Amino acid sequence: MALSAFTGAGVAQQAARQGWNVLLLEQRDFAWGTSSRSSKLVHGGLRYLKEGDIKTTLHSVRERQRWLREAPELVAPQDFLFADCAGRKPGRWLFQLGLMVYDRMAGQRSHFYADLQRTHALAPGLNPPRLRGSLVFTDAKTDDARLVWRVLQEARNDGAVLLNYTVVQNLVWEAGRTSGVLLQDACTGQRYRVRTKAVVNATGVWADRLRADLGGKPLLRPLRGSHLVVPWARLPVQQAISLMHPRDGRPVFFYPWEGATLIGTTDLDHTENPDIEASITPAEVQYLLEAVNDQFPAIRLEPSDVLACYAGVRPVVDDGKGAASKATRDHVVRDESGVITLVGGKLTTFRLMAQDALALAAPHAGKVFARDNARVFTASAALPTVASSAVRQRLVARYGSLAAQWLRDVDASDLHFVPGTQTLWLELAVAARAEAVVHLDDLLLRRTRLGILLPQGAQEHLPRIRALCEPHLQWGDARWDEEIARYQALIQAHYALPAM
Ligand SMILES: Cc1cc2nc3c(=O)[nH]c(=O)nc-3n(C[C@H](O)[C@H](O)[C@H](O)COP(=O)(O)OP(=O)(O)OC[C@H]3O[C@@H](n4cnc5c(N)ncnc54)[C@H](O)[C@@H]3O)c2cc1C
Repeated sequence: MALSAFTGAGVAQQAARQGWNVLLLEQRDFAWGTSSRSSKLVHGGLRYLKEGDIKTTLHSVRERQRWLREAPELVAPQDFLFADCAGRKPGRWLFQLGLMVYDRMAGQRSHFYADLQRTHALAPGLNPPRLRGSLVFTDAKTDDARLVWRVLQEARNDGAVLLNYTVVQNLVWEAGRTSGVLLQDACTGQRYRVRTKAVVNATGVWADRLRADLGGKPLLRPLRGSHLVVPWARLPVQQAISLMHPRDGRPVFFYPWEGATLIGTTDLDHTENPDIEASITPAEVQYLLEAVNDQFPAIRLEPSDVLACYAGVRPVVDDGKGAASKATRDHVVRDESGVITLVGGKLTTFRLMAQDALALAAPHAGKVFARDNARVFTASAALPTVASSAVRQRLVARYGSLAAQWLRDVDASDLHFVPGTQTLWLELAVAARAEAVVHLDDLLLRRTRLGILLPQGAQEHLPRIRALCEPHLQWGDARWDEEIARYQALIQAHYALPAM
């Protein structure tokens, strides 16, 4: 049994593929936690290399290469450009040395130094003080919430049972060991007791809550990271621009994502209740805009340019280091009386993290867990050519081996893009029909990302979305009105620009 979003999805997938009986429980929506609020990079962890963490970088680079091969529609290469400015750290030679090692780990050579002329050609308008050239290298990006869904889909195909809006209230103990969980259906309030042989506590920033009965020291140091989304036309970058913030030397970047430009991120201790969605602060907005305006002074990006904001909380393992940005990003796995807690790490390494947890869970479950290198993502069959290749690629990215079924009998108008985005109308209908949507925010913030890609959470399109999805959701007028009011309040409180 696994509890949670992305880390939990990996555990469920790896266990189900080995024939274990798996139940995955999520207290809100799948990927509602940190896993839909990340920077959406499937990166090899260049910054961990800078901190001397060779092992984490090596594992991350290898796993990144795996996802680029296995799910190329969903995990796509992204070029990064780092401006080389006289007097700014890290200097060209040190950075180049790091990139050489980074590339070597991936068995490729993708980096190069671009002189000033080429830098201007690659990133028109880039002009931080004392610019003299740039370093260009490749990493990868994804849609984090869809990546979670694809992993869950694989787990379900292998027999795992997945329940969203189901809260684990307590662990059940027998003779000093855990023997099950007490859970509650968050929609009906109904409670259940489920017997289990092993529990994997992959609840991210909530992990210490379930560990409370165990009496150990808290493991986590929750760190908030916030992002801005701006229209691509206001910050029209082709490359991801990576920089050290001029104020404090922290890594910041912005890059094209889903037709918009994403700017991130901050790294601050987060002491608020994790049950309340995190929100960006005005100071974080200023900090991120300052980073962009340092690199592209002529653009003069302002708060009024912001389409949406979002904040997530990193379940970082507390290693006692002072600065938040120095805290280790590696994962930790613990077996405490049959409760396997798996926290930390990142999207890229979910498969290895899951295997570490299952190796510890196996004796409790009466199984032998064999680590393997088998594919995680089932290959998709060729799709009918009723759609353009861009549309086919998008469908494979989102539905993997199920993509072909959504093209059967499709209405041609559903293969158009929602204006101003790269999202197909079809994606909304598919989510409403077959992707366990319980609330409107599940549909607009996680199954699709329209809520952070369009002004006011895509308010303008709500009438068409309602018409398209009602046949599948069958909410009726009163429920739709309730859902829309709930959604708008959520957007206003956590995804809109705060009062500056
Ligand atoms: C700002 C930011 C940027 C990041 N950028 C990147 C990046 O670019 N690349 C990368 O690889 N990683 C990145 N990360 C890290 C990555 O997002 C996280 O490591 C990962 O999402 C953690 O996944 P998780 O499943 O452990 O936690 P979560 O996604 O938070 O999942 C835990 C889930 O457990 C559920 N839960 C909690 N308690 C219970 C309970 N009692 N019963 C049932 N369910 C429960 C929660 O609702 C939650 O959905 C970033 C993180 C942040 C915050």
